[in-house]
Amino acid sequence: MQTLIQIIYISRSTFTPSGLTMGIEPNVARILSKSRLNNRRDGLVGVLYFGDGCFFQCLEGDETAVNALYARLQLDTRHKDIKLLSRKTISTLSYSDWAMKFVPIEKDMNRLLKEGGYKTFDPYQFDDQMIGKTMALLQASTDPTAGSDLTELIQRAANVPGGKTSNSHGIIFAVIAAVIVIGALVLFKLK
Ligand code: FAD
Repeated sequence: MQTLIQIIYISRSTFTPSGLTMGIEPNVARILSKSRLNNRRDGLVGVLYFGDGCFFQCLEGDETAVNALYARLQLDTRHKDIKLLSRKTISTLSYSDWAMKFVPIEKDMNRLLKEGGYKTFDPYQFDDQMIGKTMALLQASTDPTAGSDLTELIQRAANVPGGKTSNSHGIIFAVIAAVIVIGALVLFKLK
């Protein structure tokens, strides 16, 4: 029989957040796009928030699928300091319509942080009450990217430092530069 579970974890991004494109940080857009594809396939749902370089994610679904994703998350170099905040069995999914809901709600979050006496979004400092309030806010907020095509964002993200494409561009550039320098040295010696 299927056992449904919910986990909440936090982590820190290893990339330096760049400016928002259509309201979303491009690296986050890539993560979100892949997550929606994979989660639909695996019957997982949840919500993701990104603020001040920290991720806050809630995942729900079959225990085996959630565990498999959590294991993949440990290997993902785009974030670090992964900390599990809670893990519990549930009877129904809270985000049944969301393969991965995304809520860029800086204003509402800033208000919540201010009320709780926090200066920045640092979920490592949150107590249980603040975690509960954050969850309630994420659940109640709407997702502006719902149903949107994230292709453009993903393409832009490819050019952000840290993305796979920019890395390969960097390698090609380094090889060309090395060939030019070696060529110049050889010419200099021949003269
Ligand atoms: P691929 O996407 O093909 O990736 C293969 C490998 O490359 C993986 O090890 C992956 O970690 C790594 N990789 C891919 N792109 C990059 C990149 N730009 N930079 C560095 N390494 C990269 N995945 C989900 O399926 N569902 C989620 O809800 C989900 N939430 C996430 C939340 C956060 C905060 C982060 C950082 C990642 C999340 N991911 C999620 C991604 C997850 O960590 C795995 O990367 C993904 O599930 C692997 O998908 P895949 O097996 O199809 O492999």
